[in-house]
Amino acid sequence: MDSQYAYVIVGAGLAGVSAIAGIREVDSSGSILLVGREEELPYDRPPLSKSLWLGKKRVDEIHLHDRGFYDSTGVDLELGVEVAALDAKARTVTTTGGASCRYGKLLLATGGHPRRLDIPGGDLAALCYYRTIADYTRIREQAAAGKSAIVVGGGFIGSEMAAALHTNGVEITMVHGGPRLVDRVFPEDLGEALQADYMNRGMAVHARDVPVAFEDRNGRVAVTTKSSQEIEADFAIVGIGIRPETTVAHQAGLEMGNGIVVDEFQRTSEANIFAAGDVAEFPYEALGRTMRVEHWDHALNHGKQAGRNMAGAGEAYTYMPYFFSDLFEFGYEAVGEVDSTLFTIADWREKHKTGVLYYLADEMVRGIMLCNVWDKVEEARALIRAAKKVKPEELMGAIK
Ligand code: NAP
Repeated sequence: MDSQYAYVIVGAGLAGVSAIAGIREVDSSGSILLVGREEELPYDRPPLSKSLWLGKKRVDEIHLHDRGFYDSTGVDLELGVEVAALDAKARTVTTTGGASCRYGKLLLATGGHPRRLDIPGGDLAALCYYRTIADYTRIREQAAAGKSAIVVGGGFIGSEMAAALHTNGVEITMVHGGPRLVDRVFPEDLGEALQADYMNRGMAVHARDVPVAFEDRNGRVAVTTKSSQEIEADFAIVGIGIRPETTVAHQAGLEMGNGIVVDEFQRTSEANIFAAGDVAEFPYEALGRTMRVEHWDHALNHGKQAGRNMAGAGEAYTYMPYFFSDLFEFGYEAVGEVDSTLFTIADWREKHKTGVLYYLADEMVRGIMLCNVWDKVEEARALIRAAKKVKPEELMGAIK
């Protein structure tokens, strides 16, 4: 690590790494430092709960780039290192090891940490707060056929990991606080159908219930839930959301909202400091509101845009990110405000399997979920951008 860089990127997840390409599109030679907390070369996260479990990819295939990419793009990599302090006036960052360097432009792409259960036994080593490649490797070793697992949380990680482990022969018990699986996203009938499908496959699903204590029983793990269930298993996974990593941003006095507040150019309230990806609350142009989005496609595009803007491009982020998930045979892509508290209209070709869900507010389409309907994300974006009042019948067949 030198003492001065034109660009310092803190966070070596997808947003941080995508910023490199953005910078290099505009500035071919400015010096770049990428600092990442994990020792591992930067990697893609979706396979950790999807393709790695289906044998479609190997763990050594999920790195975003090989080491040669960083050399050839003139990037100094500092991995296994945390930034402990940020001085916005002096324009310096200091690592936990005490090394410090000056930046011209700084990007905070610090992502988030898994929320933890603040209950007795919530810090047992046997619990895996699932997020990293190290978590995948560890769970992979434990997840042999015939083993059993407790999965806490019914959101993205819970629903995907329960499916992944079940597919690999692990006996699953889910405990989640919501009324049904993925309840923040799926409308009631679809969430119920999905949950019934999980149970029909032989998984136990305890909805509207939360863990109150964990204990280690001779290497096995036992949970007691609020409704007094007691469940024992070989290992446990927890996915109860993330907390954006904003420690140094706070300390530096950056404006905070639901994350680090940025404008449409990814600029924070401090000159020369940008933020992107999971950690940033940004103006979502097409929806006319600010949001924090914790998905892959947003990290990719927001990070790249931040890189371009750090290098002086001056372009607003108007992109509409999509997200995707695969839960056994139910795969989907979704864009916009896919929020189950909105009014939803379903255009099923095959109920709860194939079709399009529209999420409306003020009679306008705000979000769309394409259920086993592929290559239609652009059409979905156009419908949301149109921001026109629509009648439910007009949406039938609107996306084929
Ligand atoms: P999440 O999707 O926000 O889901 C959190 C789940 O935990 C919700 O079901 C929530 O229920 C439940 N919960 C909260 N507190 C609980 C408690 N004390 N006990 C039991 N359940 C509790 O978060 P996640 O699944 O942990 O995912 C982490 C991150 O990875 C997110 O940023 C997510 O976007 C990302 N991710 C995305 C994908 C994808 O895009 N396909 C896949 C994997 C991960 P309530 O809703 O009732 O609060």
